[in-house]
Amino acid sequence: MAHSPTSLEHTPAAKEREAHLAEKIAVAWERSIEHPKEALALAREAQQLAERQDDTVAKAITFCLSSIAYRNLGREAETQRTALEALESLQISSDQEQSVWDRVLKGLGKSDLLILSQTLSALVQSAFHQTDYPTSLTYANLELYLKRQLGDRRGEAVALQRIGRAYGRVGLYQRALEHHFDALTLFEKEALDEVGWALDDIAGIYIKVGQLDKALEYARKSIDASAGNGDGTLICSALRHIGTVQQKFGEFDAARESFEQGLAVADEEGSALIRLSLGNMFLEQNLYEAALENFQACLENMPADPFKHHRTQALIGLGRVHFELADYPGAIRYFENALGYAEQMKAAVETYQAHQGLSRTHRRLGEVERSLTHFEAYHHAKERVTQEASDVRTQLLMIQFDVERLQKDQEIHRLRTVELARAYSELKSLNAQLERQAKELEQLSIVDDLTGLYNRRYLDTKLGYEFARATRYRHSLAVIICDIDDFKEINDRFSHVGGDEVLKVLATIFKSNTRDTDIVARFGGEEFVIIFPNISKPQARQAGEKIRRIVAEYPWNELRQDLTVTISIGLAEKSEAADASTLIQLADDRLYQAKRAGKNRVVS
Ligand code: GH3
Ligand code: MG
Ligand code: MG
Repeated sequence: MAHSPTSLEHTPAAKEREAHLAEKIAVAWERSIEHPKEALALAREAQQLAERQDDTVAKAITFCLSSIAYRNLGREAETQRTALEALESLQISSDQEQSVWDRVLKGLGKSDLLILSQTLSALVQSAFHQTDYPTSLTYANLELYLKRQLGDRRGEAVALQRIGRAYGRVGLYQRALEHHFDALTLFEKEALDEVGWALDDIAGIYIKVGQLDKALEYARKSIDASAGNGDGTLICSALRHIGTVQQKFGEFDAARESFEQGLAVADEEGSALIRLSLGNMFLEQNLYEAALENFQACLENMPADPFKHHRTQALIGLGRVHFELADYPGAIRYFENALGYAEQMKAAVETYQAHQGLSRTHRRLGEVERSLTHFEAYHHAKERVTQEASDVRTQLLMIQFDVERLQKDQEIHRLRTVELARAYSELKSLNAQLERQAKELEQLSIVDDLTGLYNRRYLDTKLGYEFARATRYRHSLAVIICDIDDFKEINDRFSHVGGDEVLKVLATIFKSNTRDTDIVARFGGEEFVIIFPNISKPQARQAGEKIRRIVAEYPWNELRQDLTVTISIGLAEKSEAADASTLIQLADDRLYQAKRAGKNRVVS
């Protein structure tokens, strides 16, 4: 028998190839942080092996490894590209339902999951660095999900923190705060060092929303939290936040002190940032020499590549100082330099700030045309910023909306499948029971026990309703009241039980000799009312007469020997009365007349 392709996979040679591939992946993973270049080369080799072996999962994992290595090499575009390739090979997309992710994730081993979650982190950070906040946020949510699946509490909190930062960058401060607080809770619960960072993030957002007291409080808490592990970068960031708040309060000396304390513990990036803050503060105070000094120090401290953002801001600061010092050619040089960087990295805010500076400076120089050109460019760029910010905000809100919807869908799905299955059958019988009860209750409230006819209460309501309806549709409406003649005597002769039996038989006579649309009710002890909707007085008189005759001719002696029963009837028609109770009253009067006239008759 021929071997199937599947069984071929299990030849010793194939097994060896698989082991070889697995080993390459393991080594690449191990080297990805310290030796990313080496890891990258290994990942590429592993990718080719995986392709040859037609192993999709392994291939996806090799993309992951490349992405992580690229991230560690600071190559943002490649990081994103390879990470997205990995997700694509795994057929994971951000807009899928979590059940789909679950199915994919179930097929992966623990180490694959770790690599994938690391890849998502790389993707999220790299998108964030490139100011692509929607992408960052989208995958941060996926990252969050995966970390939760892995039971990685720190990873979960870090993902929350990244989501918070993305929201903060686009001005969705409420959501930013929510996520930072969630991250804080987790960090605290797990006694992790990142507590201080979460507090500092919160301080940063409070500054943005102008809650300066809170900002101060959290920045100080952040310093307290980090005191134990002496994280200089964090202390520096917190001090910068404190300084910024003090500056906003107009406490320039205190601010300066905070900034300088920050400088003492700062690393390269941190001191560049603080110099920038100091430069802007001195500029605000018109202390141009000091501003100049700090902006320049900022540029000197700035590490080369990923921090062009702050470099551009320092150049703009320098341009502004030179403008104030009336060194217009100098100002133009800095603004143009800043504009070059800003355009290169598509930094919209810095672009319009540079144009604004250039426009103002050229105007001072009397170069109206140039000034105007830059003014237009400034205006255009600024509009774009507003537009883009609101677009991104909308996009981010949509992403969050999708995430929340997915979570709800999943919850609903879970409830449906697990709990509702049981609840449903219970519910069904409960429903039936309730329906029965409701019917019984309704019956109870409208039906007379002895005869099964409608009771007095129901009659009153129903007559009112029928009267109004007849008025509205200009129909006629007639009622009769029937009273048993000498019923006291019947009771006396045949006992109360006998009397009751008479009442029951009468009820069936009334029911079977009226139409379904007529309403037959027991009005009192031995009195009955019948409503005839949409009937004329002569027709009603005929109906009453017929009923009287049927009762009189009924073979009562079959019920009790020598029993005879007759009824007297009073009849009234709608046109004779202003309302329902008058109508009944009129019929009752005529019943009394029938009695006085000798009983067993109809008076209308
Ligand atoms: P009339 O011809 O003038 O109507 O004479 P009557 O005896 O019927 O007069 P009346 O209205 O004074 O008496 C009604 C009697 O009906 C009194 C009461 O004992 C009896 N009765 C009222 N409700 C019931 C009932 O539910 N069952 C029985 N068996 N008797 C009832
Ligand atoms: Mg009576
Ligand atoms: Mg009577």
